[in-house]
Amino acid sequence: MHHLTLAEIARGLADKSFSSEELTAALLQRIRSLDPQLNSFITVTDELALQQARAADARRAAGENGALLGAPIAHKDLFCTQGVRTSCASKMLDNFTAPYDATVVAKLAEAGMVTLGKTNMDEFAMGSANESSHYGAVKNPWNLEHVPGGSSGGSAAAVAARLVPVATGTDTGGSIRQPAALTSLTGLKPTYGRVSRWGMIAYASSLDQGGPMARTAEDCALLLQGMAGFDAKDSTSIDEPVPDYSASLNHPLEGLRIGLPKEYFGAGLDPRIAEQVQATVDELKKLGAVVKDISLPNVQHAIAAYYVIAPAEASSNLSRFDGVRFGHRCDNPKDLTDLYKRSRGEGFGPEVQRRIMVGAYALSAGYYDAYYLKAQKIRRLIKNDFMAAFEGVDLILGPTTPNLAWKLGAKGNDPIAAYLEDVYTITANLAGLPGLSMPAGFVDGLPVGVQLLAPYFQEGRLLNVAHRYQQVTDWHTRAPNGF
Ligand code: GLN
Repeated sequence: MHHLTLAEIARGLADKSFSSEELTAALLQRIRSLDPQLNSFITVTDELALQQARAADARRAAGENGALLGAPIAHKDLFCTQGVRTSCASKMLDNFTAPYDATVVAKLAEAGMVTLGKTNMDEFAMGSANESSHYGAVKNPWNLEHVPGGSSGGSAAAVAARLVPVATGTDTGGSIRQPAALTSLTGLKPTYGRVSRWGMIAYASSLDQGGPMARTAEDCALLLQGMAGFDAKDSTSIDEPVPDYSASLNHPLEGLRIGLPKEYFGAGLDPRIAEQVQATVDELKKLGAVVKDISLPNVQHAIAAYYVIAPAEASSNLSRFDGVRFGHRCDNPKDLTDLYKRSRGEGFGPEVQRRIMVGAYALSAGYYDAYYLKAQKIRRLIKNDFMAAFEGVDLILGPTTPNLAWKLGAKGNDPIAAYLEDVYTITANLAGLPGLSMPAGFVDGLPVGVQLLAPYFQEGRLLNVAHRYQQVTDWHTRAPNGF
């Protein structure tokens, strides 16, 4: 049963080939036996899952049906889940039990989804290797010596290893698309404002966006349908109707104009990845797409701008963890300052502390104009580049990552090397655009991802192209050895 996609599960549950309880029990067993190799879960919610599965079966027996009713899911451990530890993979929140559900969690639970557990991640979603977790690194199921990407690395590893059919992720600078690429999944970062951020523990609020991680575009469409929509509790949520994503999957690609930005194919890109990207382009041409060379002249500044803006917002967001209200508190503080210093010093790991310091520096009087304001101006230029490009093309295509999944520990002491891995993904966050990564081949047994970017609210177009591609390729159907 573990090989079934979400769409296949929906059909199996509808025609009573199996019950949600049977499926849930089988997957919980699979997590117990296989996850020790991967470390993809921080918390497994056995009891909650079985209870939700029985409730879903009862709803079906009473005549209800819905694609998500009774289907299992795992949530990245920064989505607040009522009554369940929500740790953000930080010692700071190791003792935090969320008193409420994030909107995404609540919507999916109401649709009848069954929560198998909370997945491992980089601490506070800062990272691209899932090595900064307080609960230890996550391993890539395609090669256990390699990283799965981050920060949604636990969700990626769990779905790729068939421990769960789909999972939620969040993407501030690539954290859905990059781990999807490194584990051969389809992952979608929606338009900023499409999915509610309420109850999603904030890293950088103007960049964060939750989205689906799955094996196929078809499954991403089903899951996004359950996640998307206006939420009055999130002031940046956008009140736009949610289209039927599954309905757009089969549109023909005849005449679709795809732009290849020359900046995405320059120095720094592994030539073996470039080859797979070219093969994907050829495949899409066969399906009727027309390809054009384009330029996004300002994206060369994206990393520099992102690594000012994201830490700046993080330093502000993370100031709430002060040892007073919730989260880690040091023992026997001498006075208030000692309480703050030691609680934060003990609770946050080194990468989080680095970001808080960089962010506080960039926001300080005297440096604000030179760094933060400058970065915001670059952000606007990058957005303008995309707007201009989308006058002439319907979609932008390139590699998701410059490199294959690297060995665990290989970039451990070099934060800049890790930051450079985000070079192709962070632009979509800076501009607020939707982006998708889809499986596009393997090099030395390690997955390669191709990234598609579309204009605002064109998630359907991304899913359509990925789905058509998945009908003529089989990369997304391959399973890692041993899983
Ligand atoms: N790797 C990027 C960072 O560390 C992106 C992380 C994310 O998208 N959450 O900030």
